[in-house]
Amino acid sequence: MVGKGRGLTLAISVAAAFTVFLLAAVLLISALPEDEGYALRSAGWDWGYGPDGGPRPLGGDADGAGAAPVGDAGRGASAGGHGADAAAGSVASGPDTVGEGESCLIEATVRIEGDAVRVDEALHYGYARTAFAINLPSMNEAVTVVESVEYLGGDGAWHEAVGAELGEASISFVSGVPSDGVRVTYSFTVGRQRGNLTMNDEAMFLTNFLATPCAVKDGKYVKGVVSAFGDPYLSPVCDYRVVVVDVKGVGFEVISSALVTEGADGDVRSFRLEGLNMRDLPVVILLEPDKVDYAREEIGGVGVISVNCWPVGSAVAGALAFGRERIGEYDRGELYVVRAPIKLKGMEFCGMIFMSDAFAAEGADFNMTLIHEVFHQWFYSMVGTDQIGEPFMDEGLANFLAYAVAGGTVRTGYDEGELFKAIKGFPDARSYNDAVYNQGFAYFAGMRDALGDGAFYSMLRRICGEKRHGILYHSELMGYYREAQADAARAAPG
Ligand SMILES: [Zn+2]
Repeated sequence: MVGKGRGLTLAISVAAAFTVFLLAAVLLISALPEDEGYALRSAGWDWGYGPDGGPRPLGGDADGAGAAPVGDAGRGASAGGHGADAAAGSVASGPDTVGEGESCLIEATVRIEGDAVRVDEALHYGYARTAFAINLPSMNEAVTVVESVEYLGGDGAWHEAVGAELGEASISFVSGVPSDGVRVTYSFTVGRQRGNLTMNDEAMFLTNFLATPCAVKDGKYVKGVVSAFGDPYLSPVCDYRVVVVDVKGVGFEVISSALVTEGADGDVRSFRLEGLNMRDLPVVILLEPDKVDYAREEIGGVGVISVNCWPVGSAVAGALAFGRERIGEYDRGELYVVRAPIKLKGMEFCGMIFMSDAFAAEGADFNMTLIHEVFHQWFYSMVGTDQIGEPFMDEGLANFLAYAVAGGTVRTGYDEGELFKAIKGFPDARSYNDAVYNQGFAYFAGMRDALGDGAFYSMLRRICGEKRHGILYHSELMGYYREAQADAARAAPG
């Protein structure tokens, strides 16, 4: 993201206290309204993808013969021993926690009724475990009412997750028996606070709103937090199958960087969203679809779709070309740039960028912000970083790369005590912004100066190849850096 300049208060005045009610009520599938015609884990929904081009196996239903023993699924159940640690936030280290949550399949039905959003979501890990921790990022911006938390039992049925604990923006529990899936139902109301969940008369903007698996760092879950500034989100890349239901039939349209297909069941309109390898699923609900301005340009093989925005082609083209030449191909076929009612200047999502409607005109600041957000498609979306614990990583890199394209410098020095802080370590947006953007720029500029352009960009290219769809922690970056230093030393003459 890009915040406003120093001296401006960024405080996101979240409308309400983050009061969340965890109700014990267990909602069975049969108790949910069926009016939209789609049930979770719906059989016969041909998504046209999967390991062999067919639908991806879903846990116990994989062979169509009912529930397979969960312990036999995927990478197997070695999870029996570490359940008790879940509440403390740690997980057993070992091969089956490496890449935890990556390629998890998220299925959800999202019902939109006025400003109310109700989500019925299942996360299918594809292998069994007994300790679960999921992020619930909507808790950052909206009072989120959790109605039920369940796990998929070996009998193929959902069971109440007794003792589920709510964190700041996460839920964790121990299932007791090995399970490869968790299901959560929750609802929230979208206000007009100009954050990641917001709306105006023309559209509703739903980003960072679906539950995602917690990533694992140093053997512990990285749980979502609530912060008035920064991007307090970290999710592994997942696959998504989401149905957005127009409950009242108001005639809205949906845009997303996932593939959108309109459907209907009787009188109820709905949209199916299908996305592979996505770090998040951005969804824009167009309430006045007739008033929307679309423009599509083909830029270096990428369809750049501008929605209600000024021409974005030249800025995007420069960033995409620089990225392709120096770091690696942009790996999605399309990139959306959407003008949105947000407080920040810009905000990145997987395959989509929001640009603030507060920009009065296109210009240098608009272009610089847009270029910064395009580079988040490499460092945030393709290669994840720990935005909660190490927020300088993606912001510093995106800023460095934006200045590499557009020219200029912002800072020559940094203080490790500030730079390496977690988001919760900063007292305010001003100190956060200075550290992650300005000092972050200086950090990566220093790395580039030490290595030289060739070795520096070779390092980034290698990272984007080896960590694509993974998460790059600072400790790993240092490993890459040391190897790049050694390579540069060997290559030096004499
Ligand atoms: Zn940023």
